[in-house]
Amino acid sequence: MPFVCTECRRREPTVRARCRHCDGVVVYEPDDPGAIEAAIDGDRWGALPAVSRRITMGEGETPLVDLSGLTDRLGTGNGDDIEVYAKLESLNPTCSFKDRGSALCASVVADPETSFEAMVVASTGNTASSVAAYAARAGIPCAVVVPAGTASAKLGQVAAHGAEVFAVDGSFSDCFSLAQAIADDRILNATAVYSANPLVTSANRTVAFELLDALSAPPDWVSVPVGAGPLLGGTHAGFREAAVDRPDGDCRAGESSSTGTIPRQLCVQARGCHPIVEAFEADRPVEAWERPIETAVGAIADPLVGYAADGEYTRQAVLESGGSAVALADEHVFEWQRILASAAGIYAEPASAASVAAIAESGLVEEGETVVALITGHGLKEPEAGTVAGAPAVDDPIAVDPAAEATIRDALLTG
Ligand SMILES: *Cc1c(COP(=O)(O)O)cnc(C)c1O
Ligand SMILES: [Zn+2]
Repeated sequence: MPFVCTECRRREPTVRARCRHCDGVVVYEPDDPGAIEAAIDGDRWGALPAVSRRITMGEGETPLVDLSGLTDRLGTGNGDDIEVYAKLESLNPTCSFKDRGSALCASVVADPETSFEAMVVASTGNTASSVAAYAARAGIPCAVVVPAGTASAKLGQVAAHGAEVFAVDGSFSDCFSLAQAIADDRILNATAVYSANPLVTSANRTVAFELLDALSAPPDWVSVPVGAGPLLGGTHAGFREAAVDRPDGDCRAGESSSTGTIPRQLCVQARGCHPIVEAFEADRPVEAWERPIETAVGAIADPLVGYAADGEYTRQAVLESGGSAVALADEHVFEWQRILASAAGIYAEPASAASVAAIAESGLVEEGETVVALITGHGLKEPEAGTVAGAPAVDDPIAVDPAAEATIRDALLTG
């Protein structure tokens, strides 16, 4: 299989997370360059590692909706001066983009050509429920490792899919180290970070292929909520491959939209845990976040302890794209979660609303430019989120008696 070390360029014959020679991050690069062109035309799986049987539930192919009603608040303030789209990854089968990677992981494990028989995953949230669902569909044993005391609506979803859940007396980093120690030729570590496996990042490239298929030109910016960053890194890799691949492709990053240019990646983190943004601003390699995690935006609060190199890989993708990085206060994230729901009809989980909040807060998108915000997960995943941040997401209902037609009619038709 075409898995290549990003450091020494040696090839790995089988699915491996790190290079056996230099420990570099391993990525998937298709042998056939035509596969990228075909993927943009609709054959997305053709650009992924080949499998004998696809474990699929229709993941990907998510709607791209315009946020034109919000451009006044998102742009430079001159009316419809920028074009903003939301890609609704929240409408994947388990309600987050993680299904792209999980479908591929489950397909590789289920493939009799590989030596894998089972999956292990360290996650308290969307990766756990997604991997558990695809494991159930494929009939593959699946173990989920979480820190003891984890209370999350998402764990209910995991339990429903019948995965074994193990609670570790330790931090998330301890859970990830444990998953790495368990992983071998028979057990795939399906955790959604580069150093666990090359499959998840590879699958996330399809976000780029779908955007190139849907839009007449590549967007100028893609705004991505980032934990360790395989979504950002995968999306960037997809755009880069597509630009290199096209006959007229000049692949200079961040140039104005015309065929062949690579969109700038906007890396979005929460201020209470932003190791990648911090390194980007200081122009130095990413280091683990050793301070307390002070944010309620859990899905992107990854301190990278023990795998800071993963964050660095993401920072390099941002730099290569000519992009930028921004850390947001929780109050802005929750404010934009409410705006998206009440003014655009999109109920996003807080981490996902951060992608839109970052457009407003950073002011980086210039007049005439197009930006796509990835709505990575559904609001129903964290129904209590608004209240956690101290501001109820909805007002209490107004008490009325059963003959309150006039009151309700007046509320609807004022003036
Ligand atoms: C996992 C996740 C992210 C972050 O993606 P990474 O690829 O881990 O950086 C963002 N938003 C949501 C809702 C997620 O579940
Ligand atoms: Zn190597």
